[in-house]
Amino acid sequence: MNVKIIGCSGGTTSQYGACASVLVRAQGFSLLLDCGGGTSLKLDEFNIGDNLDAVMISHFHFDHYSDAGILMHKRLIDWKNHPQPLMLYGLDDAHLYELRWLPFSNVTAISAKEKLRIGPFEIDCFATTHPIDALGFAIHYDGLTMVYGGDGALSDALIQSAQGCDLLICECSLYADVDGSKPGHMNAYDFARLCELAKPQKAIATHLPIYGDHQRLLKQIRAKTTTDVALAIQGMEIEISCNY
Ligand SMILES: [Zn+2]
Repeated sequence: MNVKIIGCSGGTTSQYGACASVLVRAQGFSLLLDCGGGTSLKLDEFNIGDNLDAVMISHFHFDHYSDAGILMHKRLIDWKNHPQPLMLYGLDDAHLYELRWLPFSNVTAISAKEKLRIGPFEIDCFATTHPIDALGFAIHYDGLTMVYGGDGALSDALIQSAQGCDLLICECSLYADVDGSKPGHMNAYDFARLCELAKPQKAIATHLPIYGDHQRLLKQIRAKTTTDVALAIQGMEIEISCNY
């Protein structure tokens, strides 16, 4: 299972690139998790373009899905090469149905606690703690599990879903001195605590603040956990395998 960070900038595009977006690939199947602002442009820069089979949207905040419309246009323009609808999955919400544009795209409503099969992946959805309904995804393939937390404050559902996973990609929107629990985000200490409680093999902090010094953020996380933690960088690729 190959995982590529397409965007990692929290809340808006910035000097760190596009907003939330992670590409997961296996057996030639490409599943995009979130498609915030700047995603489409980055997919072009990374020579991925329209080579997407499905898109899962964690929640309908623009920094997680605003490029979905652009991906639909991309499929229209590239229809000759990809004459199948781009499949979009998200919560049962009016915003989801705006993304149905047959034959170029189609949508499927999903919910927390749902188990899905999309391409070669088995996916468990879970609810995250955020001001609007939001999901995280545990993606299973070939005995491996990658967990994407979307947006949300530290919660039991997130800890449980990430338990012992091979790779955790989760938001770390705030430095340690800012309380994220009210806006439904995690700060550096929350992220470290998640790592300590869930014990992933490796963790990547994404949805990073657009201000300050990211090395300070990483230091704050590492001060509170022994987990192997890295900061997301756009274009970063991780190959998850059994001996990883
Ligand atoms: Zn959000």
